[in-house]
Amino acid sequence: MIPAVMPTYARADVAFERGEGAYLFDTEGRRYLDFASGIAVTGLGHAHPHLVAALVGQAQLVWHTSNLFRVTGQEKLASRLVANTFADTVFFTNSGVEAWECGIKVARKYHSHTGNPKRWRVITVGGAFHGRTLAAIAAAKTEKMVAGFGPMADGFDQVAFGNLNEARMAVTDETAAICVEPVQGEGGIRAASLDYLRGLRALADEFGILLYLDEIQSGYGRTGKLFAHEWAGITPDIMCAAKGIGGGFPFGACLATEKAASGMVPGTHGTTYGGNPLAMAVGNAVLDVILEPGFLDEVDRVARILWRRLETLVERWPTVLAELRGAGLMLGLKPVGSNADFVAALRARGMLAVPAADNVVRLLPPMIITEDEIDLALEILGATCREMAIHPAKPVPA
Ligand SMILES: *Cc1c(COP(=O)(O)O)cnc(C)c1O
Repeated sequence: MIPAVMPTYARADVAFERGEGAYLFDTEGRRYLDFASGIAVTGLGHAHPHLVAALVGQAQLVWHTSNLFRVTGQEKLASRLVANTFADTVFFTNSGVEAWECGIKVARKYHSHTGNPKRWRVITVGGAFHGRTLAAIAAAKTEKMVAGFGPMADGFDQVAFGNLNEARMAVTDETAAICVEPVQGEGGIRAASLDYLRGLRALADEFGILLYLDEIQSGYGRTGKLFAHEWAGITPDIMCAAKGIGGGFPFGACLATEKAASGMVPGTHGTTYGGNPLAMAVGNAVLDVILEPGFLDEVDRVARILWRRLETLVERWPTVLAELRGAGLMLGLKPVGSNADFVAALRARGMLAVPAADNVVRLLPPMIITEDEIDLALEILGATCREMAIHPAKPVPA
């Protein structure tokens, strides 16, 4: 019999009742160190007092009015994002994939609006993940996400991630934009080189196409900058953000320059819930914390400590761990055995992590992580490696 909850996930048999900072507590009262953060969502940890107060305060005022009226929280959050990023304008959504798809619409509309309606195709890269709508799976072309869902939406041309020449060869007179994640998350924590990002910027400028960055997972402080592309010293024309943006309250945003968004006039796009007062109250509270002077520097500092400790771990257990990669607090450990087994072994010892493609174990601690909590993480990781070195897992075929 099919479960009442449609069984599209192979879920771990644990349910959480409550969270506090970097910890979650399950229904049996067991404590877990949360290095999953709800997949890079609860970047400020659980039950952050400032976020809780913002949500509760707004809940007592008004929940929802629709976008037929001004929403003051949207105006405030959009202005703050504009002041702190490349963007001139922001559209708020309920989820990541809606923000991503809004960006595709912005790119297509820009070219049709400026007299180039033939320019509508978007170049994407292998290993990408942009969400689960029909357009997003057509863009990423991942076999398991595409299989059985019928003919894919046209308009996405895929090239190898990191290969600038291939990207250049793929540009035609129908290309509207090129879309990449600065650090691929679901694809296995694969960071684009800064030179690749700079090269994409130059390529887009050369051919008059738009550079579209998906920072849904890499953004909002996770790499130690507000957005990961800042490390490369470049700016995109369009960017989507979500996950960390609401600290667990579901919403997303599509950011664009004035030029890129020039076709987005009244009536061209909309959403019932997107940017509603509850989401905006929490979003503004999240930004209060992240933009506090020194916050991102501290993320960078602890991230470097964690990186060095993990490097030592990988050196110490070469038969268990093959590789460490990533950026900031968006880290990937590649075990010799299966990533699912490694994640389960960590969970049994009271630590949560997230599997990703390419047999990677994602470590996505909240940005409020302390050095004591890093000590605890390394203790659990070390014990897990010791256990796995004694009982070696079958190596996963490359
Ligand atoms: C999670 C994610 C998405 C999709 O976000 P949803 O909120 O699940 O729709 C898109 N792009 C990237 C890079 C992501 O990590």
